[in-house]
Amino acid sequence: MPRRNSRFIFVMGGVLSGLGKGIATSSIAKLLQSRGFSVTAMKIDPYINVDAGTMNPTEHGEVFVTKDGMETDQDIGNYERFLDVELSGLNYMTQGAVWKSVIEKERNLEYGGKCVEPIPHIPDEIIRRIKKLASRNKPDFVMIEIGGTVGEYQNFIFLEAARRMWLKYPDRVMFVMVSYLPIPAKVGEMKTKPTQTAVRTLQSAGIQPDFILARAEKPLDNKRKEKISIFCNVAPEDVISSPDVDSIYLVPLVYKEQGLDRRILHKFGLKAKASDLKEWKRKLVDIPKQAKRTVKIAMVGKYFATGAFTLSDSYISVIESLRHAAWANKAKPEFTWIDSEDFEKGKKDVSVLKDFDGVVVPGGFGSRGVEGIISAIQYVRENKIPYLGLCYGMQLATIEFARNVAGLKKANTTEIDPKTPHPVIDLMLEQKKNLASSRYGGTMRLGNYSCHLIKGTRSYLAYGENNILERHRHRYEFNNKYRRQLEKKGLVIAGINQKQNLVEIIELKDHPFFVGTQFHPEFKSRPLRPHPLFREFIAAAIK
Ligand code: GLN
Repeated sequence: MPRRNSRFIFVMGGVLSGLGKGIATSSIAKLLQSRGFSVTAMKIDPYINVDAGTMNPTEHGEVFVTKDGMETDQDIGNYERFLDVELSGLNYMTQGAVWKSVIEKERNLEYGGKCVEPIPHIPDEIIRRIKKLASRNKPDFVMIEIGGTVGEYQNFIFLEAARRMWLKYPDRVMFVMVSYLPIPAKVGEMKTKPTQTAVRTLQSAGIQPDFILARAEKPLDNKRKEKISIFCNVAPEDVISSPDVDSIYLVPLVYKEQGLDRRILHKFGLKAKASDLKEWKRKLVDIPKQAKRTVKIAMVGKYFATGAFTLSDSYISVIESLRHAAWANKAKPEFTWIDSEDFEKGKKDVSVLKDFDGVVVPGGFGSRGVEGIISAIQYVRENKIPYLGLCYGMQLATIEFARNVAGLKKANTTEIDPKTPHPVIDLMLEQKKNLASSRYGGTMRLGNYSCHLIKGTRSYLAYGENNILERHRHRYEFNNKYRRQLEKKGLVIAGINQKQNLVEIIELKDHPFFVGTQFHPEFKSRPLRPHPLFREFIAAAIK
């Protein structure tokens, strides 16, 4: 164990998923951090996928990429944004990753001939990973969010690991249960029974929650607080009301009002330093509420057809980045989702884009809806509507420019048309090898790469520095064979990775704002420190 003895707080969910456990975890972490403690947070996902990189965003939500190139769950993004830190692959594990390491160890004879079994060896590996994270920077607190809900077969093994952590370090482990209290329309009254049942299930796994966060449409009244307290074996002041609120940034304040952070510190026997969330409240709650002008942003893409996940889940970091930037510009963002297939099929005309202050094309893969996106980009380029293209949004802007400005009529990316006469976006050798041998998982260009900004460009002005580090997640690249030709026609190469000579940012002159980045700036925007490119994009959109 680390010398400074980190405390571990497990967060689990009851009754149903989608209750905002990630926001709950982030908010508790924020509260502890606001009292001067160092905090890190970790997410455990029950999937067999070794990382989130191979999951479709409409099914799982956004794939959030850490600086060291791990493809993780969107909750890691919430932790980074709330805590204003950069996390790493150590902050994430899936069931698949855990089993994979155990099986690899077994193959390497690291268990010395023992019979290797799910219990205890899988929880051992889970605990090893939690401790490894704790030993890294020796934080005061490690928050551990367990995906899914208690009672699911597939996350039982994580509960078992949590229980054993508590058994070993009873003074340094705590459990928070995020539960749900429905208000059935016909009954019209908030019901506590599902929560009682969920807590029983947790107890049958040998875990007694220390706190219950009662998620509901409305605040919890005293009568129900008492009831939960008695039936679930938790002091009434440790039952925290967590009603729906307008903004996720309000959640830490809702908990704080009820003394959650004080209670956690008290139970751990730690002295509480005064908490400071003034700037947080002013910039993320008060200013957004008071903002008079709205900035209308169209998001054009294809992962908007809702499966299990909602639109905003597929692009949560992009949306949050736009929000941070809008608030910093004292404006309210208003988002409209446009499925680019509607442009292709003639259901909508691209001229609808004239009603927007700015257009964003976020990352994406594959051919569906791409021609629709390209026609949207042509429209905003010609009609001088501010444009921000992220990853695919940069690649497709390059294609549009090659076709319609440089006259390379059939220009394309080889992702869509491997036989195009003008592969302006193409695979590099290494990626060709990966695809030829079906090595898909974790093999894209991932994580931090440096980018050198060219003086005098819009990006250089926005960042106010020469060298930046940004996170990537893509296989295809700007094809340097076309660089001269496109530059001659007016395309501005504003950022390059010098080591590999790769184009990282394109821009257009004579346009209020037209920037495309090969990287994903949205992963680095923070609520109180909006990303420079988003900030300038919104500023241009407001103008
Ligand atoms: N599909 C493109 C590539 O693989 C872009 C990826 C993305 O937008 N994240 O290069």
